[in-house]
Amino acid sequence: IKTIGVLTSGGDAPGMNAAIRAIVRQGITKDLRVKGIQRGFAGLLQGEFVDMKARGVSDTLQRGGTILGTARCPEFMTEEGQKLGAKICRENEIDGIVVIGGDGSFRGAQKLAALGINTIGIPGTIDLDIACTDYTIGFDTAVNTAMEAIDKVRDTSSSHERCSIIEVMGRGAGYIALWCGLANGAEDILLPEIYDYDEQKLVDNITRNFKRGKKHHIIINAEGIGHSTSMARRIEAATGIETRATILGHMQRGGSPTCKDRVFATTMGCKAVDLLCEGASNRIIAIKNGELVDYDIDEALAMKKSIPEYFYQISRNLAI
Ligand code: ATP
Repeated sequence: IKTIGVLTSGGDAPGMNAAIRAIVRQGITKDLRVKGIQRGFAGLLQGEFVDMKARGVSDTLQRGGTILGTARCPEFMTEEGQKLGAKICRENEIDGIVVIGGDGSFRGAQKLAALGINTIGIPGTIDLDIACTDYTIGFDTAVNTAMEAIDKVRDTSSSHERCSIIEVMGRGAGYIALWCGLANGAEDILLPEIYDYDEQKLVDNITRNFKRGKKHHIIINAEGIGHSTSMARRIEAATGIETRATILGHMQRGGSPTCKDRVFATTMGCKAVDLLCEGASNRIIAIKNGELVDYDIDEALAMKKSIPEYFYQISRNLAI
């Protein structure tokens, strides 16, 4: 192979730039031309390519976001869109593409692979909701950002003896909520995978806690449950305890990646180039039991992952 492309797709995540930099420089080291494809599959269909040079990725390792931009591209969900994408790759002599994104992006990569363009996926999402891997680029940074923000809310919540509902991202998955729940010592964690929507239990728990002398009651609410503001109103009415909702929102997606995100994004980026050089296609890179491994995309997309209920149980035991 002579030329490879790299794109970021779906939601952005801190550490994506570290992966792009690694792909570009590992590619150059292996005598490849590397083309950056802007705005994910949308940019691919528009032929938005930039030649990536070693110096072009200088000073990006430590920056959040993605220098290539990202987008959602409904057109790529169609067969015509996918065929057009493969045609554009061939016209631009792109022999292989590294796709950094989530499950949806991997489905796009799978379609390109079936059309003869070699593809390698790298898991990039703050949500940690990719079944085949214990690690996804951005989760570590996002969870540290959320943890620090929650510490700050807790300070003021304790001073005013309030109940705080803090909503964290994660879409349908509760990993950010669970990790923050443990890291911040939350009194309650509401996870889409576990929460039974019984608000009376929450109300009883809050009342009991304040009677026990607690100065705050922190509830970490996952995005997949949501409705934090209306929940706060109902809880305040039921308990008589001032209750505020804080929705952390997109701040969790930004910022300089942590060491872990930089190191794993870098190693995954290099591994993706190595795999393309070996002629591999339709693979996803993953971290499993601390090892860098790769799986067939079809197999990886069929895998299931469940929230560690023991972690949740621990949070319950310690919130006394
Ligand atoms: P995140 O977890 O951050 O949302 P994602 O990769 O799962 O990332 P999606 O919006 O699901 O995000 O997918 C990103 C893009 O991948 C889509 O806009 C579309 O272009 C492409 N894609 C998604 N699903 C498919 C599919 N079934 N076939 C082809 N392309 C797809």
